Amino acid sequence: MAPLIWEKQERVKRMAEFTWYHNGKWLPQSQVKPDPNDRGVTLGDQVVDVERTFGGKGFRIEEHIDRLYKSLKHVRIEIGISPAEMIEITEEGISRNWPLLGEKSDLSITQLVTRGQSRDRAWTAGPPNVYVKFRENNLENWAHYYTEGVHGVITKVRSYEPDTIDPKVKHLSRMNMTLAELEANDVDPGAWPILSDKGGNLTEGSGYNVFIVSGEGLRTPTDRAALAGISRSMVMDLAMHLKMPCHEEDLQPYDMYTADEVFFTSTPFSILPVTQVDRRNIGDGNPGPVTQQLLAAWSDVVGMDMIGQAIHQSRAST
Ligand code: PLP
Repeated sequence: MAPLIWEKQERVKRMAEFTWYHNGKWLPQSQVKPDPNDRGVTLGDQVVDVERTFGGKGFRIEEHIDRLYKSLKHVRIEIGISPAEMIEITEEGISRNWPLLGEKSDLSITQLVTRGQSRDRAWTAGPPNVYVKFRENNLENWAHYYTEGVHGVITKVRSYEPDTIDPKVKHLSRMNMTLAELEANDVDPGAWPILSDKGGNLTEGSGYNVFIVSGEGLRTPTDRAALAGISRSMVMDLAMHLKMPCHEEDLQPYDMYTADEVFFTSTPFSILPVTQVDRRNIGDGNPGPVTQQLLAAWSDVVGMDMIGQAIHQSRAST
């Protein structure tokens, strides 16, 4: 049965069904059927990238597609589609799906590439399956974090080291992150995990990068064992524009506990303030001024009120 998404009428039009791309065809979402024998399903043998629109315009799509193709190159999946063609497919999907959204909403876009079925080992697998999925960038569950802040927990579960699966590859073989989410929730219900590498340096979260704000300005872990987030690079650009020093360096839990502010960055939400880590207040335990300044600067660049949109989404869902 086609998924009904009409309960969110204000934002997603009645009975609307998004159109997805699968191996050269555009299909209603309900007709895209993943193969249960694909290694993407059986082994998590797949790479992914996720973008969003702001006011209906794709944000830094070229950078995301560049990262997708680096992930594909690293895991040695060839899809026979050039990066320029993938950008065209993505833009076409935005045009097809954008009219399904109501006011004050935006799209989330996912390129997902699986290696396909294998008769034996990885080298026999193929052809790959290429999906480009579209849905609402729905922040209704997270809107309150912009004003209240999210809690973080530094977990015992570690990031993969670059000599296992390089965390610069955006892949979905990430059981460690699932375990980290469960561990964080055990320690502080609802808290989000912050992982570290085997040397104890902070790395990233289960779908977001981390920043701290201290007297020296902004500091963020290097990408040695973290995804080079596109939102992370946006924050670096904003910091340069705002003349805030910003450094990539090894950071330990000490740096986070003693920071004035901490925030997470990721495509769906851009920036979220973090007000507690390991149940300790960060700064005075409220979202800090630098985080708010960066959020405002980001909203200015994309020409829309990001927090207002998230709050509208959370109100429309109640
Ligand atoms: N780190 C991980 C592990 C991620 O999966 C993501 C995004 O999903 C990020 C960081 C943030 O990356 P971006 O800002 O490009 O969304």
